[in-house]
Amino acid sequence: MPDKKISESGANLAQIENKRREFVSDYTRDVLQNLTIEDYAIGTGSKDNFCYRLEHEQIGMGDIRGAFAGSSRYGVWFSKDEGQYVYSKKFGDTVDDAFHNIRDELIKLIDAGECDDYISIRDSRIANNVRYKILAMYYPRKYLTIYSDRHLSYFCDKAGIPAVSGDYVLVMQRKLIQWKETHDEVKEMSYLEYVAFLYHHFGHPPKADPIKKDKPHLKELKKKLKDFDGKHPKKTLTEVERTERSVLVAAVVKERAEGICQLCNKPAPFYNKKGEPYLECHHIVWIARGGADEVYNAVALCPNCHRKMHLLDEPADVAYLKKVAKQ
Ligand SMILES: [Zn+2]
Ligand SMILES: [Zn+2]
Repeated sequence: MPDKKISESGANLAQIENKRREFVSDYTRDVLQNLTIEDYAIGTGSKDNFCYRLEHEQIGMGDIRGAFAGSSRYGVWFSKDEGQYVYSKKFGDTVDDAFHNIRDELIKLIDAGECDDYISIRDSRIANNVRYKILAMYYPRKYLTIYSDRHLSYFCDKAGIPAVSGDYVLVMQRKLIQWKETHDEVKEMSYLEYVAFLYHHFGHPPKADPIKKDKPHLKELKKKLKDFDGKHPKKTLTEVERTERSVLVAAVVKERAEGICQLCNKPAPFYNKKGEPYLECHHIVWIARGGADEVYNAVALCPNCHRKMHLLDEPADVAYLKKVAKQ
């Protein structure tokens, strides 16, 4: 009988933790560096490979078998039908090429997880749920054993933590971790115990229709901006009105970011005197270059990232922020 998952009642946490440790000590960073395709790929019939073990042996640490994609989430796998290793083209032009790139990505991910390099984690080419499971496997004191944004946003909602659907997985994990740190009944728990608690306490998210978020403050601010625009045609704004409107745009943008920098995805570095997380409003296409002072062209950044955008304005960051601002 397969082990119970951490999300199921009666899951044996001690056993899950033991198995996790065994896996991580079998696949240290050094071992991963020398991994062969046989050591890695699922589908060969062997149970002794990285992907099979991650998926099946470690089922307690969460189920990453998605409804779609099959084994392709691992980039390279053995196809019984074709009798050979097959690979996802995005990783390379040959099986060997693809496998070596995946192996490099694995090492990069492990390193990024260790030093909380959220940008590299975000840019990792490893499939989402595989990526987050690996992080939780290797760093159980930093990352939660919940990988799906549907589950995470459900728990944020239940715990009364503001979260946007489409929010980045690690951002929601961090929000739940912050919540843990400020709630006595869960404060002392390990992250594994905490995840089991969340499922036990709040239940599982409903399968169908996505959870609707009620965000009164954000709605209020958006309405203020709309009302302002209703009263003041944009073409005739005085300097004072323009400033007033800018303040409203910035307020909407910051509220929308919920205290997390939209570039590095880390929490604001400090709170201002009003107790609000300190972030700065940045226009993706700069106003000085003709960019619009509108919420779809603005994001909330931590001071470091804001400085970075003004010094470098790297195209990859610009493209990423444009996506974020549209959500
Ligand atoms: Zn930042
Ligand atoms: Zn700026």
